[in-house]
Amino acid sequence: MLKDEEIVRSKSCIQCGTCVASCYSSRDTALSVRKIINDFIKTGKIPEDETALYCSTCYSCQERCPRGIQITEILFHIRRRLAEREIPEGLMPFYNSLKRYGIGVPPEEQHLKLREKLGLENYSVQFRKEDMKEIREIFRRLK
Ligand code: SF4
Ligand code: SF4
Repeated sequence: MLKDEEIVRSKSCIQCGTCVASCYSSRDTALSVRKIINDFIKTGKIPEDETALYCSTCYSCQERCPRGIQITEILFHIRRRLAEREIPEGLMPFYNSLKRYGIGVPPEEQHLKLREKLGLENYSVQFRKEDMKEIREIFRRLK
């Protein structure tokens, strides 16, 4: 949940563009944090902008913002809202991989085969078995 003071602080954005210039995800996707903050200032509402899903949560923008705006936290807030509505289509591969393997980026087939050949467990061992059960239960309830 965003605190009121964080929302007020966002309104001090000077549109300097440091956030976008710091954002690796913006280079290859439609994500523009400066636009998201600007839309928020103009409308007074946190926008439900699906490009927030492209954020890799590296915190570079937030660390460098001269106004100390909690940009990444705002993006988390948007993502939470989007996920509460429904799991966005663009997030389905991530969702399915998380459910199946316990990680967001699907493993490549060749790596799975190599692991099998070497007698290694599949990627789901990244989480403890009991945690994987909990994660799958959360997904089951989301449906
Ligand atoms: S770095 Fe901060 S002040 Fe500059 S545009 Fe981005 S949010 Fe606004
Ligand atoms: S936290 Fe997200 S929006 Fe900010 S720089 Fe990193 S990827 Fe870009």
